[in-house]
Amino acid sequence: MDFSYQDIKFLPGVGPKKAELFRVELGIKSAEDLLRYYPYKYVDRSRFYYLHEINEDMPFIQVKGQIVRFDKVGEGNNQRLTAVFTDGKNTIDLVWFKGVKYALEKYQTKVDYVLFGKPSPFNGKFNIVHPEIELASKMPPPEQMGLQPFYNTSEKMKSNFLNSKTIQKIIFPLVQAIKTGIPDTLPAFILQKFALMNLTDSLVNVHFPKNADLLNKARQRLKFEELFYIQLSILRQKNWRELQSKGFVFGTIGHYFNTFFKDFLPFEMTGAQKRVIREIRIDVASGRQMNRLLQGDVGSGKTLVALMSMLIAVDNGYQACIMAPTEILANQHFVSITEFLGNLGVQIALLTGSTRPKDRIVLHEKLRNGELNILIGTHALIEDTVQFANLGLVVIDEQHRFGVEQRARLWRKNVQPPHILVMTATPIPRTLAMTLYGDLSVSVIDELPPGRKPIQTYHYYDTKRSALNGFIAKQIQAGRQVYIVYPLIQESEKIDLQNLEEGYEYMRQVFPNYTICMVHGKLKPKEKDFQMQRFVSGEAQIMVATTVIEVGVNVPNASVMVIESAQRFGLSQLHQLRGRVGRGAEQSFCILLTGYKLATDTRKRMEIMVRTNDGFEISEADLQIRGPGDMEGTQQSGMPFELKIANLALDGRMLEIARNAAMEILDTDPQLINIENNVLANQLRKLKTNTLNWGSIS
Ligand code: ADP
Ligand code: MG
Repeated sequence: MDFSYQDIKFLPGVGPKKAELFRVELGIKSAEDLLRYYPYKYVDRSRFYYLHEINEDMPFIQVKGQIVRFDKVGEGNNQRLTAVFTDGKNTIDLVWFKGVKYALEKYQTKVDYVLFGKPSPFNGKFNIVHPEIELASKMPPPEQMGLQPFYNTSEKMKSNFLNSKTIQKIIFPLVQAIKTGIPDTLPAFILQKFALMNLTDSLVNVHFPKNADLLNKARQRLKFEELFYIQLSILRQKNWRELQSKGFVFGTIGHYFNTFFKDFLPFEMTGAQKRVIREIRIDVASGRQMNRLLQGDVGSGKTLVALMSMLIAVDNGYQACIMAPTEILANQHFVSITEFLGNLGVQIALLTGSTRPKDRIVLHEKLRNGELNILIGTHALIEDTVQFANLGLVVIDEQHRFGVEQRARLWRKNVQPPHILVMTATPIPRTLAMTLYGDLSVSVIDELPPGRKPIQTYHYYDTKRSALNGFIAKQIQAGRQVYIVYPLIQESEKIDLQNLEEGYEYMRQVFPNYTICMVHGKLKPKEKDFQMQRFVSGEAQIMVATTVIEVGVNVPNASVMVIESAQRFGLSQLHQLRGRVGRGAEQSFCILLTGYKLATDTRKRMEIMVRTNDGFEISEADLQIRGPGDMEGTQQSGMPFELKIANLALDGRMLEIARNAAMEILDTDPQLINIENNVLANQLRKLKTNTLNWGSIS
């Protein structure tokens, strides 16, 4: 029987109405979809516990014993029933707030019962509220009970009597039916190599495990399968693209690159910068189109890597461009690249939304006739009126701020796609990069330029404001500058702006002798630039701002970053903001201000920030706390697929094994045409046609 074509409508207990709910709410159409709808948790009825074994982490326990006595407290609506239950040695309290009369009638002392429920600590002891109690004589032996599955459902499903229990009842006969064996979706050689459970046993045991060990093996196998096929799909796509898309060949390292390196480079490159430039050189000379993601913490010197890559393009007679997400950043790139290049003779220009039409006309012309070598700008670069003579390399800074579509438009600027280098200071954990950007090559700058003092980070409650003001005053007297950042989100924009303005007024009162500027996204670009400039030039000692300063802004003399309402920022955003200081030779500080009462997650975030400056460690922690779907950097682009059982935060090791397995297979059989890989080719095809999500990976 092929379960993939069996409509669930005809399964016992389903029918057209429930079938429709399954389809709309969960996307489940076939019997196979149902079999692949895994429980989200289990409760263990496979063994009896003793009361002395109980601890807080146990979701449910099952204990055999007797009720010793009952105590009824209160009257009417306030009445409560407690009972003392013993396993022969120790006791636990049972509590009923409802159904007191019913419980008193139903249960007796000195009768053998099986007690089932969640223990919770209360007054230094454990109790169980509203336990399930069965006559011991009526219960099957625990080995036959196994673990009970629980399935996720929606509100709509629940209100239509399609709850976890119903799903369990529908899946049960299906699982019985497959027990005779179904064809495996992984080839035998893989099962053997990684000692994986076969598909039949895995499905049986993922739904109705006899014990925790079998469940574990089943889940391992299903996770492996899930990760393996995602990687196989991504890697095949990557192979295919590398074969298909020819890239410009930058075969020589010429005058500009060499002269810049010898005579213009103001400092020694870090080892990591050198290594990444080498990786890029190999890519662009290979004849295939480069698609490289460059990850490097804030301040690690990505701009220089971008510039030297662009010089290689120019040396080979091509144009290059670098695109930044904001005007401020584009300006800054223009300024620093102009400074780097000095009188080297490379023709560069800046194009942003505020470039005047008159200047644009000239610029467009120089771009078309090839006079311009390097163009720096914002989204304005991807407008259709912007035409290059021969664009060979595109650098995209802070890539997660660009949508996929915007990137694609740049790709299409040439008949032959240019080489692409995307740079991000939001490090993505390896596991996530391997799936999200699995078809990109990844370079990492994991070393900061020498001489930087690590930023010291402190978490203050906002009651310590006057002490903080004293500290700020000292820093300014020592010649430093200070950022004060307020959160601003669309949903509470009005209040946020008000907070910002009040904060600004407050600072003006506290520091009447200093110049304070204020910057936020609602200012007209001209006004914003003017205010920024006051800070950059050193005229203003304090800048009160929203997160518009988050990305890339470079004022080496600023040494203090105060983040107001720090609890409202995500970890990677906090890290980005902190990266605005610590750019000069002086010791820098980051102060996280919050209220006293904090949620556990928030407290954890603050602790991580105080503990480490390492962007990768922070992004790993972010992944653990929030899960991959909510990570910054994935939100905008979205996860290209949905994981049913594997978890990128927890199964990183397995992902790596699965990826290597997929790589090894594709190395010897890139088209998957060998007989032993039949299963793989078929399953890949099926996954792609079956679900929309899968189709969008490749
Ligand atoms: P990011 O990776 O955050 O974009 P930048 O490229 O803005 O970092 O570099 C931060 C600062 O470090 C700049 O002022 C830059 O000139 C400087 N820098 C870059 N590489 C080095 C190096 N190897 N040695 C010293 N300073 C460097
Ligand atoms: Mg940068």
